[in-house]
Amino acid sequence: MIVKMRKGARPEDIQAVEDKLHELGYQTGKLVGTEIVLIGVYGDVSQLPVGEIQEMAGVDELIRISRAYKRAAQKGDPTDRRYVHFPVGNVMIGEDLVVIAGPCSVESERQIMEAARMVKEAGGHILRGGVHKYRSSPYSGWEGVGADSEESLRRGLEWIVKAGREYDLPVAVEILDHTKIHLYEDVGVDCLQIGEPNSRNTVLLNALRETPLPVIHKRANSLDCEAYLLWTERMMTTGKENIILCERGILGPNKYTRNTMDLGTVAAFYYQLTGLPVAVDASHGTGRRDLVHPMTLAGIMAGASVILVEAHPNPLIAKSDGYQALFPEQLKNLVEAAHIVWDVRRKTDALYQPSVVFEPQYEKRVEADRKRFFG
Ligand code: PEP
Ligand code: MN
Repeated sequence: MIVKMRKGARPEDIQAVEDKLHELGYQTGKLVGTEIVLIGVYGDVSQLPVGEIQEMAGVDELIRISRAYKRAAQKGDPTDRRYVHFPVGNVMIGEDLVVIAGPCSVESERQIMEAARMVKEAGGHILRGGVHKYRSSPYSGWEGVGADSEESLRRGLEWIVKAGREYDLPVAVEILDHTKIHLYEDVGVDCLQIGEPNSRNTVLLNALRETPLPVIHKRANSLDCEAYLLWTERMMTTGKENIILCERGILGPNKYTRNTMDLGTVAAFYYQLTGLPVAVDASHGTGRRDLVHPMTLAGIMAGASVILVEAHPNPLIAKSDGYQALFPEQLKNLVEAAHIVWDVRRKTDALYQPSVVFEPQYEKRVEADRKRFFG
């Protein structure tokens, strides 16, 4: 909460407000501008007698700054940020770098088994693959092996779970329909993915509150980053915490790339806004196989600890998103490069300094510096 004092508020008015806040048990910090003074109030402001403060001499307004997404929000202060850790199968998320890789779609039992081997051999940690695909055109001719019936969905899920078990890889699969959550749980899927089109599907997000399975929540391509966190918060209202945010590109002016990767927001999520782990998906983010390598690495530097990569045993015959899927050799090299960048990021993170550390000492110098610089 910030108490904004009126222009021309007297020093004794400002002091009285600070004294009152201290009396109520709050700590305060003051920002003195040339015309107005702002008083920051630290602590749980839910019990603050807002009306009483508002009535005090010299007070202009009280500005609420706590975030609407309380559970998804960063819980520490800027110098002591707190992050959530949780497992997907036997893989911990939020500690070391995690690579989720696999084809866009599960296409056959053989294809997903070979894809699992490819992911394992490349050093990936989690196998991905969609069984019922969300397609923008009803005429695409391909909606996934599980699109036709509950039996086909079960069969497709069983194929990817079997492939994952064979190579000791937990599996992540997109879910479209909230009534099928139990089926994914029964078959042994380890992680659910909410695709971009369902990013703000109220019914699906509400239903996912109850599943013990971790969820990758992809950001809709036209959703403001804080509005997105509020949609994530929807799954968290009854205590769920095992959610991975995912930046997979937003709408932009470019036609060359399928989407525009919003890496500034990845940094905002990790360094400022939230304690949830952040994934980058440069496959959907760029839509071009040859840009997945550099943009995945850029995503790690921006703050991601999870990378999502589409790869196929032979992308040239993939039934969906083949143009953005890596060849097995490319996946292997990307995983190696990702670990190199992750090590760099750990080192550069140790040099990261939030401004709040320096602000008080520079505030004290404002008047003197103004005189020195501008006379
Ligand atoms: C996918 O992961 O294959 C997919 C379709 O992703 P998105 O929902 O981000 O487009
Ligand atoms: Mn895809």
